[in-house]
Amino acid sequence: MSTLYVSHSSALDYETPLGHPERADRIRVIERALERSHFSALIREQAITATPEQAALAHPAEYIQALANACQGTGTVAHDDDVAFYPGTLASALFSAGAAIQATHEVMSGAVTNSFAAMRPPGHHAEHACAKGFCYLNNAAIAARYAQKAFGAERIAILDWDVHHGNGTQDICWHDPSIMYCSTHVLALYPHTGDITETGETGNIVNAPLPEGDDGGFFRLAMEEKILPAIQNFAPDLIIISAGFDAHWSDPLGTLNLTEADFAWATAQVMELAARQCNSRIVSVLEGGYDLQSLSRSVAVHVDTLMGA
Ligand SMILES: [Zn+2]
Repeated sequence: MSTLYVSHSSALDYETPLGHPERADRIRVIERALERSHFSALIREQAITATPEQAALAHPAEYIQALANACQGTGTVAHDDDVAFYPGTLASALFSAGAAIQATHEVMSGAVTNSFAAMRPPGHHAEHACAKGFCYLNNAAIAARYAQKAFGAERIAILDWDVHHGNGTQDICWHDPSIMYCSTHVLALYPHTGDITETGETGNIVNAPLPEGDDGGFFRLAMEEKILPAIQNFAPDLIIISAGFDAHWSDPLGTLNLTEADFAWATAQVMELAARQCNSRIVSVLEGGYDLQSLSRSVAVHVDTLMGA
């Protein structure tokens, strides 16, 4: 069992306005938590940037060019109110996608058992051709398509336990039967998608909305009775976790009451399934999580569990 941690300083250079919840300190506290001697067995790599061609695995080339133009202030791109464009935005988004690709490459090549990419901006709200909710490029979807293109993987499952629905991943995978997207989230929160009736063109989308205030009971039930069996039936060659930690009780943007123990439990459940299904191959990419203390503690138990410690 070996676990890779991928990051890059671009996650720290990428600025959002003062007071914005999606900020560089999120990565700083994660790095501090994983510097402890307890994590000395982690394999650490610096991310390399994704190329525009790699980003185009999940987005039209015209959208990526429009992003580049918008970041230079010379054009517009479809987006919602929760994104802003700065000169370094696209470069950071490409590094974020690059980290997900690298985390995938090392797992698919057999160099490591599993991996965690701690980067920002996050990705799961970025749709096929629309930047949304702090997200510009869909890191998880790009990673899934990379595993298929570079390693011939046939089926990829993406499991998203961020408190917000991954509308972007759902949008990109809706017509793609080779990728299963499963999500637990709160429907009343942004982006208000992810109803149980949204199942994708071939039943490859599995949404399990949770009641606000859930202390982990409904989350574990949804995982045990709906999501994990669906992934098992799908028989994926790789499981990608869209690992948001804003379902934690102390998160300022979330309305669930999960604890670190729930994230450790969920990680272990996915590992058990991956061991039976896909030679233990798991790639985890950071999504949300906005309370610095609970984010760092939740990531620590997540990575600790991935390491089999
Ligand atoms: Zn979120």
